[in-house]
Amino acid sequence: MRKPGNLIILTAPSGTGKSTLVHLLLERISNLVFSVSYTTRAPRTHEAHGRDYYFVDARKFAEMVDEGRFLEWAPVHGNNYGTCEELLNEHLEAGRDVLLDIDIHGANQVQRKRTDAVSIFLLPPTFEELKRRLEGRATETPGSIQCRLERARREVLHYEEFDYVVINEMTESSFDELRAIIGAERCRPDCRKDRIADIISTFVEKKEKVL
Ligand code: ADP
Ligand code: 5GP
Repeated sequence: MRKPGNLIILTAPSGTGKSTLVHLLLERISNLVFSVSYTTRAPRTHEAHGRDYYFVDARKFAEMVDEGRFLEWAPVHGNNYGTCEELLNEHLEAGRDVLLDIDIHGANQVQRKRTDAVSIFLLPPTFEELKRRLEGRATETPGSIQCRLERARREVLHYEEFDYVVINEMTESSFDELRAIIGAERCRPDCRKDRIADIISTFVEKKEKVL
């Protein structure tokens, strides 16, 4: 049987640079896929349905909650976001590592249900820099930026609940750290069982057949 892929949770205050890093990781690391979430939020101009999110209305989202289709879901900045369990399992069972870009509440739910998940918290270098990045992205109204910054003040206090912390100062250095974490997880004995079994089998002494 194929070894399931690793589940990697990436959490950060909005504006830290998570999407920027996720794009780089997907572009440069093989056998790594993104878990496309469902959301009730409206798409931003550059976003595509099925690639960045599945954009659905509140009724469809509530229906999926009732049907128990989400591994986790949470309200974030006035909209609902959720991870579809079936889509996630398809990737994992195919042996692909899956990247989940989810908020703190979602991360906590996944950590409880999937104890083998690897969790990474991305921290912006300072509050001021986070504000600059959110304003620079120019996708939010001033009210929405304020709401994200207020939430960030609470979110950063949760860093200890994660397996790793990456401080996103320079994108390239953060990318290197994330690649190292994903690479290290792939070296766990459990992830290499099949290959190891083949190697060990070459070490087993063969008994000569006595005629
Ligand atoms: P998130 O997905 O965490 O909300 P984004 O990836 O959309 O954040 O980044 C927010 C803004 O900050 C974008 O305008 C992006 O170009 C910029 N940005 C991302 N990473 C960095 C970085 N390391 N240094 C400076 N600006 C960054
Ligand atoms: P944005 O609207 O900026 O794309 O995302 C807002 C926040 O929602 C981010 O913190 C992001 O990590 C989080 N988010 C995206 N998808 C999910 C999801 O499926 N579940 C949860 N709990 N949070 C999500």
